[in-house]
Amino acid sequence: MAALDFKCNDCGEKFFEIVNSSNKDKVVCPKCHSKNVKQVFEGKCQSGGASKGSGCSGGCGTCGGCH
Ligand SMILES: [Zn+2]
Repeated sequence: MAALDFKCNDCGEKFFEIVNSSNKDKVVCPKCHSKNVKQVFEGKCQSGGASKGSGCSGGCGTCGGCH
């Protein structure tokens, strides 16, 4: 079980969710309830902006804020 960061592709909401192997594919956006969310790997972000919920200002190419 882990707290992972996600970003909603529909409304842009960023959130984190406690997930495990059984619910990892069932994460929905808390704002618009879309299932069109993707995991944000903030640990790989080198630009320093991807702390909880704030996202990357752009440039690292790996985090949700850069897409
Ligand atoms: Zn959403």
